Amino acid sequence: MNLSKFERYPLTFGPTPIEHLPRLSEALGGKVDIYAKRDDCNSGLAFGGNKLRKLEYIVPDAIASGADTLVSIGGVQSNHTRMVAATAAKIGMKCVVVQEKWVPHYDAVYDRVGNILLTRLMGADSRLVEDGFDIGIRQSWEDAMQSVRDAGGTPYGIPAGASVHKYGGLGYVRFAEEVKQQEEELGFTFDYIIVCVVTGSTQAGMIVGFADQNRADRVIGIDASGTVDQTRAQVRQIVDNTASLVELGRAVRDDEIVINPDYAYPAYGVPSEETNDAIRLAAKTEAMITDPVYEGKSMQGMIDLVKLGKIPAGSKVLYAHLGGAPALNGYSYYYKDG
Ligand SMILES: *Cc1c(COP(=O)(O)O)cnc(C)c1O
Repeated sequence: MNLSKFERYPLTFGPTPIEHLPRLSEALGGKVDIYAKRDDCNSGLAFGGNKLRKLEYIVPDAIASGADTLVSIGGVQSNHTRMVAATAAKIGMKCVVVQEKWVPHYDAVYDRVGNILLTRLMGADSRLVEDGFDIGIRQSWEDAMQSVRDAGGTPYGIPAGASVHKYGGLGYVRFAEEVKQQEEELGFTFDYIIVCVVTGSTQAGMIVGFADQNRADRVIGIDASGTVDQTRAQVRQIVDNTASLVELGRAVRDDEIVINPDYAYPAYGVPSEETNDAIRLAAKTEAMITDPVYEGKSMQGMIDLVKLGKIPAGSKVLYAHLGGAPALNGYSYYYKDG
């Protein structure tokens, strides 16, 4: 495998810490030892998160293209558009982000706080549109690209979640290499890696990276999209593209792509009572803040898989914390009593 041939523009602090979570482990019965890899603390750019790892491999291509404006898309409380706005500010480009009505959630300040507040603060042109949830390429995004051209600018398009971009999977291939190095320092290896999956390139990159270490099937994706067939197909496509880019040297088998659909209910962006309980437990035991859209659902999945014994006693589990806490501000009513 060869990742080093790709140029990387640093947007993150460096390798993210792996933190032991003994009180959460104990609260779940103490039979499984839980750690978190804190990609939510990966950068000083607008609170960071997983999209920055992906964008590190996309920025060199954006600069080389001669573009002056990054154009992207997400929901109203999108972490991704926040990270694209941050990247644009940091590299001195303009930014247009389309924010669609992906989430059937109503809160008086939903479109004014958290991610969208930060996005606007960083100078991005944030455009709210009414279209519903879809992880694919959208007409509204094509329209935004055209509007930049019409105004005499040069757009560089970044798809939802930076996922179906040709280099979208590379950042999390690097994550797998980083985990391997950290395991050498820790003196043990993890049995399972838990990761939230929606647009797919986070898990897809991990799958390729861990396939090189012959343990891709130990990456358990917890779907938060609620449209798992589309997410799985997109992960497959990104795995194949990324594997060929980095010259993995073999095909990734279907059984190496593990996605659990059981925790995405009731809908993308809407937490269940169990999701909220998982968010509360992680916060109360470890002061680790997860959000109702993504990490709360993967936290819920991990908790349930441990409780059901599907993660066997004696296992060491690495929870990939991908960020997302700013969205909590758009959901304040759920947590008014803690
Ligand atoms: C985008 C995002 C995810 C999902 O990652 P994908 O690469 O889109 O599958 C999970 N958690 C957070 C906090 C995110 O912002």
